[in-house]
Amino acid sequence: MLLRLRKALPPEQLQAVLELARELGYAPHFLESGKELLRLEGVGRPEHRSRFEDLVGVAAILDAGSATELHERAGRPDTVVTAGEARFGGGSVSLIAGPCAVESWPRLLEIAREVQKHGATLLRGGAWKPRTSPYSFQGMKGDGLELLRRVRAETGIGIVTEVLDPRDVEAVGAVADMFQIGARSMQNSALLIEVGRYGKPVLLKRSFSATVRELLMAAEFVLAQGNRQVILCERGVRGFDPTTRNILDVGAVAHLKRATHLPVIVDPSHAAGRSDLVRPLARAGIAAGADGLIVEVHPDPSEVHSDGSQAVLPHTFGEIAADTRVIAALDRRRVVEPSLAPAER
Ligand code: PEP
Ligand code: MN
Repeated sequence: MLLRLRKALPPEQLQAVLELARELGYAPHFLESGKELLRLEGVGRPEHRSRFEDLVGVAAILDAGSATELHERAGRPDTVVTAGEARFGGGSVSLIAGPCAVESWPRLLEIAREVQKHGATLLRGGAWKPRTSPYSFQGMKGDGLELLRRVRAETGIGIVTEVLDPRDVEAVGAVADMFQIGARSMQNSALLIEVGRYGKPVLLKRSFSATVRELLMAAEFVLAQGNRQVILCERGVRGFDPTTRNILDVGAVAHLKRATHLPVIVDPSHAAGRSDLVRPLARAGIAAGADGLIVEVHPDPSEVHSDGSQAVLPHTFGEIAADTRVIAALDRRRVVEPSLAPAER
């Protein structure tokens, strides 16, 4: 195990690291004269790793033997995640769009056709909705899932939908092309393990109060089950200013593209919370290196069951798709287009 210690470590903190190392049976050796890299010789164990993580003097654990981290870029090429016709990563950019929640059959079919026509390869829509209040609309649940199954059969568009409970993973997995793990569930390890075991692609949204490291560790739960099809999603973090619903952390997007080989996408809708800001935030996300977008779209914002203020009209989604093609082309990336029936082109 290799520890990177904090710079100018006070002697008592250094002492705490060395004492713990010896207590756990490791032989500590400094690698540099600056005393920042400390190699611990011995058999690395995951439970030891968390003991070191808890010490204030430890900045990072760089190599933990058997507990190496699967998300790390470490010179690896991009992981390409595929679902339905969509491809994320390795120079491919894909668009996901649809309502916040599944509301009715005619509405879902109408939106699926619209977003597909404008360039979405995947339809989003929650059957189970994670709401801040138990009194808000909680989704159509199993009935919503059935509508998603029908719309997939009718239009051919792939489905991304949220799973909230490990007990629903089987049922959702039978319909969805990709599981969505919402911001409120990001650290639900039982759920992460279950979708990891199921093996279908996972869209993991960053919690509004999670650090980048916590997001990567949540991804690690899925990866450790042998499921390597994980996409990270930046959807805005909580800030001090209510002008926008959240703060889109474009710096985190740029950082993640370097720190991990996993695809990264941006959700400009939950970041903005306002339909007028969705398009500029979508542009910023793609410019920062995102491999795709997930956008809330609804033809009649006055009738939306949840998140109405941030839904954009289908034609605005079309403009976002057009922007994305231009911005992605700047660094030779390509937007994956849905294959439509000739009548729909
Ligand atoms: C959603 O995608 O509708 C949603 C609830 O998002 P988040 O989990 O990011 O809040
Ligand atoms: Mn929503």
